[in-house]
Amino acid sequence: MSAATPILEVSDLAKHFPVTGGILGREQARVYAVDGVSFSVGAGETLGIVGESGCGKSTVGKVILKLIEPTSGSIRLKGKDITKLSRRQMHPHRREMQVIFQDPYASLNQRMRVRDIVAEPLGNYDDGMSRSAREERVVELFNKVGLRREALHRYPYEFSGGQRQRLGIARALALNPELIIADEPVSALDVSVQAQVINLMMDLQAEYHLSYVFIAHDLAVVQHISHRIGVMYLGKMVELTDKDSLFRNPQHPYTEALLASVPVPDPRKRRKRKVLTGDVPSPMNPPRGCYFNTRCPYAEKRCFEETPALREVAPGHMAACHLR
Ligand code: SF4
Repeated sequence: MSAATPILEVSDLAKHFPVTGGILGREQARVYAVDGVSFSVGAGETLGIVGESGCGKSTVGKVILKLIEPTSGSIRLKGKDITKLSRRQMHPHRREMQVIFQDPYASLNQRMRVRDIVAEPLGNYDDGMSRSAREERVVELFNKVGLRREALHRYPYEFSGGQRQRLGIARALALNPELIIADEPVSALDVSVQAQVINLMMDLQAEYHLSYVFIAHDLAVVQHISHRIGVMYLGKMVELTDKDSLFRNPQHPYTEALLASVPVPDPRKRRKRKVLTGDVPSPMNPPRGCYFNTRCPYAEKRCFEETPALREVAPGHMAACHLR
C-alpha cells in the first residue's frame, strides 16, 4: 500500500434485497437499499455519512463490514479487494476494521463481565498473548476510554449509556484497527454525553491515526468530527465534499433542507428554512429521473426524466443535481 492509498475505497456499491412472495416464494419486487455508492476514506480521516432513516447508510456500513454481501460493486481495504472474500478469508482483515454500534446496551453481552467483553476480540486472534498481557491490555484500553480499572469486574447493566459506549469503543480498539465503522454511535445518548463520546473518538483518532466512517441521521452530529461528509438519499450518494464546503455552500437541494434544520446559535446566521414537502418514495419503487424529484422545490421537466449522476460541480465538491 502506498502512502496515498486510501484505507477504504468503495466503488459503485449496490445492495438490493429481493422481496419474495406467493406459494413458490418467487421474487416479486426489490428494495434498492444501496444503489451505486462510491467514496474513499484516507488514513486518519473521518468520513461522515448522513441521511434520513431508510436512506441506506447503515446498509453501506454492514456491507463494508461484510456482515451482508453486496449485490454488486467493490470494497477495497488498504488496496486489497475484499468484496468476494469468504468469512474465513476475511478473518485476518477483520482486525484492521472494527465497528461501534448504535445501541451499546444491545451490542454488549449482558451476562459477561466487561473485562471479558473488551478482551474477547483478543481471544479471536492467536497472537501468543499471555493471560497477564491480555489483562494489561484491557486495563490500558479502559484507561484510554476514560473508565476506571475498578469497573473491570462489573456487568454492562451497571454502566450508564455513555459508559457503555466507552466500553464499545474500548472493544473496537482492542485489536489496534486502522478503520472503525461507527453506526449511529451517539444517537442513543443524551446531547451532553454525545459531545463527550465524540470528543473521545477524536482524541483516539489523533493518538492512533484512526480512520472513521461515522454514520448518523443528523448533520449536527457529524459536523464536529467529520473531515468530509457524504449525504445519502434513497440509496444514493447525492453530495460528497469536505465539511466546510458542505456547510458553507451546499450544492444539492436535499442537503440545503438538512442544513436548515441544524441548530445555529446566532439568529443572523440561520438559514431560511426550506420545508420539504412530499413523501419519501419507497426504495422498492423509486421515482423515474432524480430520486429527490417528489420533494424538491426546484424540480423541472428534466428531473422527472433523467437520473442525475454524482459529478464534480466545484473542485473537490461532488453533487448529483441537474441544476448544478
Ligand atoms: Fe431537484 Fe432536479 Fe436537482 Fe433532483 S435534479 S435535486 S429534482 S433540481
